[in-house]
Amino acid sequence: MNKIPVYAQDSTDKTNLLGMSKNELTEFFKNLNEKPFRATQVMKWIYQFGVTDFYQMTNLSKNLQEKLETVACITPPKVKFKQFSDDGTRKWVFEVAGGSLVETVLIPADDNKQFGRKTLCISSQVGCALDCSFCSTGKQGFERDLSASEIIGQLWVANQSYMEDVAPAKRENRVTNVVMMGMGEPLLNYKPVVASMSLMLDDHAFGLSKRRVTLSTSGIVPKMYELAKDIDVALAISLHAPNDKLRNELVPINKKYPLAELIQAAKAYVYDENPRHKKHVTIEYVMLKDVNDTDVHAHELINLLKELPCKINLIPFNPFPHAPYERSSNNRIHAFSNILNNAGFVCTIRQTRGDDIDAACGQLVGQVADKTRRSAKWQQSIQSRQKD
Ligand code: SAH
Ligand code: SF4
Repeated sequence: MNKIPVYAQDSTDKTNLLGMSKNELTEFFKNLNEKPFRATQVMKWIYQFGVTDFYQMTNLSKNLQEKLETVACITPPKVKFKQFSDDGTRKWVFEVAGGSLVETVLIPADDNKQFGRKTLCISSQVGCALDCSFCSTGKQGFERDLSASEIIGQLWVANQSYMEDVAPAKRENRVTNVVMMGMGEPLLNYKPVVASMSLMLDDHAFGLSKRRVTLSTSGIVPKMYELAKDIDVALAISLHAPNDKLRNELVPINKKYPLAELIQAAKAYVYDENPRHKKHVTIEYVMLKDVNDTDVHAHELINLLKELPCKINLIPFNPFPHAPYERSSNNRIHAFSNILNNAGFVCTIRQTRGDDIDAACGQLVGQVADKTRRSAKWQQSIQSRQKD
């Protein structure tokens, strides 16, 4: 008998087809002595029609349906609970293998300007190892990477929530944009993240346009070069400071990959020889009162970014319990934005949404069995601050 490659297994030891790339799925069918085109047929059922029951895949033979039922399954991550915000934001909390919780947030269009847009913010890891000082995910420490099925499963479940009570043939995917901006640093879980983004772009799967899939990174420089070669998606860089001294404090990975190297890698991403490639990157900058939001910082930022084709997105800081920062005032954020605009940069201010269900950026905490024990240290430091 042919050996069937082992991928993510569910508790019944069947092979989970969710999250397999087209090549892996083709190989899987070859090992079942089936034609390669079965892979794209099954991909369409899974990703375009949200079907998990092989017997509903009407263009497969009865024989193949039975065979698949015995050896395979399509198992999304388990939804522990979902929440809906007054502004239309939705949040899912998934219980992933091992019992940890991770979060996914859907942000709908805010008005007629973005009619129909639904942006899903996806997590790539359980917690995060990087400990940025303003980020609640970072404060939870790191437990483990998510698998491709757990990553793409978040998108699958969000789309599925619009498919209930719709006949398979009439179903369509409703999520229009994906941002890898949930929990975790996507470039530190490289392979499953790239595999998942390939499925987002694949016409047999979700078929999203490359401009509608964005990876956000705190600046893992070597992986940025790899990414430019491997896949064509939009890139966002979490900059947050215009000089190394401040960035070392806010985004500690900067000590390993300082600003000069980061900006170089960002330029390489934009100017990559691949002609299909992107025309700019997005620079994310969280606005922290009296920390990184003065006029001097704005001018330093202009100088730092002057040769990088980029758009700047200012993110009002989202507070979390015992956070050591405050959000800059609206006036300050607008003044900062004006300085950048006047220097010729396209600069937008992110509208904070979903705060009422803790679904805003940096409020995604999940429940992490912290292998780094960082959350214990964080609790201790809070307690000693409270005593002072
Ligand atoms: N690890 C990746 C992606 C996840 S974080 C990264 O750092 O880019 C997604 C975005 O939310 C990043 O720009 C991050 O800096 C921002 N963010 C984190 N904590 C925040 C907070 N408390 N308020 C506002 N934005 C925050
Ligand atoms: Fe990790 Fe991003 Fe949070 Fe930094 S901002 S701790 S890289 S999730």
